[in-house]
Amino acid sequence: MSVGKDVVTYLAENEWLNENAKRWGTKIGARAITAGTTLTELIPVIQKLNYAGVRTSIVYLGDGLYEKAGALEVKEQYIQLIHLIQEKALDATITLQLTQLGLDIDFEFCYENVKEIVAEAYAYDVQVTIEMEDYGHVQPSFRMLEQLKEAYDNVGTVIQAYFYRAEEDIKKYKDVPIRLVKGAYDEPISVAYQTKEEIHDNYKKLLLEQLQNGIFTSIATHDRDIIEEVKRFVQEQEIPFDAFEFQLLYGFDEELQEQLVGEGYPCSVYVPYGEEWYSYFMNRLAERPQNITKKVFNKKTNTILATVAGAFVLGNLIGRRKKK
Ligand SMILES: Cc1cc2nc3c(=O)[nH]c(=O)nc-3n(C[C@H](O)[C@H](O)[C@H](O)COP(=O)(O)OP(=O)(O)OC[C@H]3O[C@@H](n4cnc5c(N)ncnc54)[C@H](O)[C@@H]3O)c2cc1C
Repeated sequence: MSVGKDVVTYLAENEWLNENAKRWGTKIGARAITAGTTLTELIPVIQKLNYAGVRTSIVYLGDGLYEKAGALEVKEQYIQLIHLIQEKALDATITLQLTQLGLDIDFEFCYENVKEIVAEAYAYDVQVTIEMEDYGHVQPSFRMLEQLKEAYDNVGTVIQAYFYRAEEDIKKYKDVPIRLVKGAYDEPISVAYQTKEEIHDNYKKLLLEQLQNGIFTSIATHDRDIIEEVKRFVQEQEIPFDAFEFQLLYGFDEELQEQLVGEGYPCSVYVPYGEEWYSYFMNRLAERPQNITKKVFNKKTNTILATVAGAFVLGNLIGRRKKK
């Protein structure tokens, strides 16, 4: 039996489940695709990847969405992380989700948080990527990038190929490193391509143009068809290996990761960690269930999930779901 994408997305966004997920820890298998909840758990994961010849980009899954105190904690976590990257000589960059740092609370407040992180990262020679979230956040995120790049050259961003605007954006931001992704959110036809084919074709078109521009590009996809095409293209066009990297999500396709490293291609992995792993886990599950189910679902996790589902129903019945 498979669970529909809408149901999983609903579960990912459910606050009551989100809050209670912390109690079960990462027992339901999130450790397969996240590096634990603390810096202590994260560091050996990064060291192991680095040892295997893989770079990393670390993202902290914190709780800065609604309250300033949470956003400030996320900021502090990143500052500690930057110090540890240098202290332990990790091959790691950091990725920031602006809504975690207060984007929905107040733009200026968020900007101050992000600026502090970027300035610290600059001082410690750490590269920063501003992640792109849903369409409503894209414009303010680019606005923040524009302000930051006036003063710092260690900051880049993400372009989502499913947006019609992606072609203009990629031209406009040709002076910063770009991570090109297909796009992960459900977006309307008024702003985004809808079919797999259209998104795939636009991704490929933008990527091949971008690779000829000489701007550092993270090719963030697990799509083997695109990866094979890039390999051919970079050989033909003699694109230097320091102009791009393949980038994968942690725990998704280790076979591909090993293959790329074995062939000598630059390869990086996006590694999430933090207390708020639950919605990341559920969203990835909604996107491509087979990636996670293969690794995670066994008799033990099924029992835990069945218990969770029961507790959820019970929680609803007795009105324990918190309303914001
Ligand atoms: C490093 C990184 C950072 C990201 N950051 C963002 C972001 O900031 N904003 C955002 O909106 N989205 C982000 N995403 C998510 C992205 O937008 C896509 O939703 C996600 O990567 C799935 O698309 P895909 O290109 O990997 O392949 P899909 O479109 O999911 O798959 C295409 C084809 O690739 C093959 N394939 C895919 N996965 C596997 C696998 N594990 N094993 C074997 N074959 C496989 C299959 O043949 C499949 O049909 C990020 C993704 C990555 C990798």
